Amino acid sequence: MTRPYNFSAGPATMPQEVLEQAASEMLDWPDASGKRCGMGVMEMSHRGKEFMSICAHAENTLRSLLAIPEHFKILFMQGGGLAENAIVPMNLSGRRAQPGQRGQTDFVVTGSWSQKSLLEASKYSDTHLAASSQASAFTDIPAAATWDLRPGASYVHICSNETIHGVEFQTPPDLKALGSDAALVVDFSSQVASRPVDWSRVGLAFGGAQKNLGPAGLTLVVVREDLLGHALSICPSAFNYQTVANNGSMYNTPPTYAIYMAGLVFDWLQRQGGIAAIEARNIAKAQALYHAIDTSGLYVNHVNADCRSRMNVPFFLRVEALNEAFLAGAADAGLLQLKGHKSVGGMRASLYNAMPLAGVQALVAYMQDFERRHA
Ligand SMILES: *Cc1c(COP(=O)(O)O)cnc(C)c1O
Repeated sequence: MTRPYNFSAGPATMPQEVLEQAASEMLDWPDASGKRCGMGVMEMSHRGKEFMSICAHAENTLRSLLAIPEHFKILFMQGGGLAENAIVPMNLSGRRAQPGQRGQTDFVVTGSWSQKSLLEASKYSDTHLAASSQASAFTDIPAAATWDLRPGASYVHICSNETIHGVEFQTPPDLKALGSDAALVVDFSSQVASRPVDWSRVGLAFGGAQKNLGPAGLTLVVVREDLLGHALSICPSAFNYQTVANNGSMYNTPPTYAIYMAGLVFDWLQRQGGIAAIEARNIAKAQALYHAIDTSGLYVNHVNADCRSRMNVPFFLRVEALNEAFLAGAADAGLLQLKGHKSVGGMRASLYNAMPLAGVQALVAYMQDFERRHA
């Protein structure tokens, strides 16, 4: 079956092989040896041997794919990226706080998502804006050397890929080199598994699954062990990282079906050649689209070349009156969900791992044809 190309920012396109495998296993899940168990995955106890093996396989495959060191815990949680905006400060901000004082947390704001994170963390901690690119309408990333980091801060928060503004860190900042011994917290919801991670620079990374890992409902948290055990007393037990870690992500019922689907996506990633191979493909996809935008007279992207996102490419038609015709023609051509986020307008093409190069080539061909017809 051939399907249209789906450029949704999230929940987003999934590898077709994964959907087909899940469909074939829906009624009766087979283990690795092919032995059927008489149950579909969403009908299994999360403590039964079948689901425990599915969960362990997903975790081990992810650890190997992303080269996550042993001193980091992998937590499968619920609540999504926005819940983590509260869960992170509830777990980490008290780490260095004086008794009776709110812990210090520093934020680098490069778009809507990091801005939201700062606002939410202000409910639980003493937040501080270390740097912001709001003055440039979030089209660049302030140089790390200019960040105003506080010596007592427990952590520094960044969003490694701003899904709405299309701004991406090419490498995580080296806080030690900046003279800070705070932990780096990274919202990598829309970047995870698209490229390797330098874990030596990261204290905690979190992301909702629905961009690059699987269905909504699963939230991935990767946290360095020494950051556990400092939760504020108000932190709900089900969101206390230490509690979740001590129980192998089974303190409460985890999002079992989403974990299973993410595990199938991790297997698919391995079959593609792992993260280095998928990164090379992501670079080629992004280059093809940015090149088409930059060489056209109709389309424009405003983000600085050195921090353009590989995953989310916002672009605008210089003639806004053509927006509706562009989207309608795209849908007719089998190119879905290209409408930009309501806060910025225009168009947005999300090029997550499951989007093949052929999908980007089809989009570029459509854009060029549309431009010729409306020149
Ligand atoms: C999508 C997204 C979120 C929000 O995730 P929810 O699961 O909707 O809470 C947070 N941060 C980033 C960078 C995102 O792209």
